[in-house]
Amino acid sequence: MRGPQDIYFEDVWFSYNGSFVLRQASFSVPTREFLVIIGPNGGGKTTLLKLMLGLYSPQKGKIILFGEYTPREASHLLGYVPQNTNINLDFPVRVIDVVLMGRLRGLKFLYTKEDRRAAEEALEIMGMDKYANARMRELSQGQRQRVLIARALVSQPRILLLDEPTASVDVEAQRILYDRLRELNEKITIVLVSHDMTVISSYATAVACVNGTVYYHGSKEITSEMLQMAYGSCPVELVAHGIPHRVLAKHDGDRDA
Ligand code: ADP
Repeated sequence: MRGPQDIYFEDVWFSYNGSFVLRQASFSVPTREFLVIIGPNGGGKTTLLKLMLGLYSPQKGKIILFGEYTPREASHLLGYVPQNTNINLDFPVRVIDVVLMGRLRGLKFLYTKEDRRAAEEALEIMGMDKYANARMRELSQGQRQRVLIARALVSQPRILLLDEPTASVDVEAQRILYDRLRELNEKITIVLVSHDMTVISSYATAVACVNGTVYYHGSKEITSEMLQMAYGSCPVELVAHGIPHRVLAKHDGDRDA
C-alpha cells in the first residue's frame, strides 16, 4: 500500500436484484489521489460511487474509509456531486441557498452564521462568490455545475466524488472547473467519473476502469489492455478534445519519453 488510504475495497460484490453488477472489487485510493473512473455505460461507475458514499451496502466484502470507518459513518467527510442534478430552474432559487442546502443534516431547519460563512467560502473556492445572490436560472451550465460543487464542498469533505460533472458543459467551462478541482486536490481526494481523455492526461493521478469489476491503475497512463478490459474492442465512449499529452501506451509496451 502507498501511504494512508482514504478508500479501501476488499473483495466487494454488489447486486441490485440478484445479478451482480460489481464483482470482486479490491483496490485502495490513497489520500490526495485524483482518481478518474472510466468505463462503458452500465459498467457500474455510479454504483461504485454510491457504495463509497454508503448509499448502498455490498452483499459481500468490506469497504473501509479513512482506515477505520464504514462509508455511512464517514458520510460527513464525503462531498457528492451526482449526475444530472435536477434543480428546478422555474423556481427562482438563489445560488447561496443552493450551497446552504449542503449544510442541512438531520432535523436542522435554520442556518447559522457559520453555515453562511462556509457557504460563502465554498463559493469563493469555486470562483462563484460574485454570484451568491444570482438566481440559478441566470447562470450558464458550467457556472451551475460550479455552484453544485460548492454545495458538496460546504461541509468541508475529505473526499469529493463527482459523477460526470461536465457532461453538458462547454470546453472552456470544463477547463475552469477542472482547474478548480486540481486546486482542491492539493488538500482533498478527488474521485471523478468522466469519459474525457483530456481530464485523464492533464489532471488524473490514477485511473480506474469499471466494467462489472474495478481495474485500478495507480498511474494516469492508459494502456490498450486497460481499454480492452474496460470497453471491449471499441473504446468509442472516450472523448478527446486536442489531447495535450499522449496517454495511450504503444502497443509494443514502449512508453513515450
Ligand atoms: P454506469 O454508471 O457505469 O453507467 P451504473 O452503476 O449506473 O453504471 O449501472 C450498473 C448496472 O446496474 C446497470 O446494468 C444498471 O442497469 C444497473 N442499475 C443501476 N441502478 C439500478 C437500480 N437502482 N436498480 C436496478 N438496477 C440498477
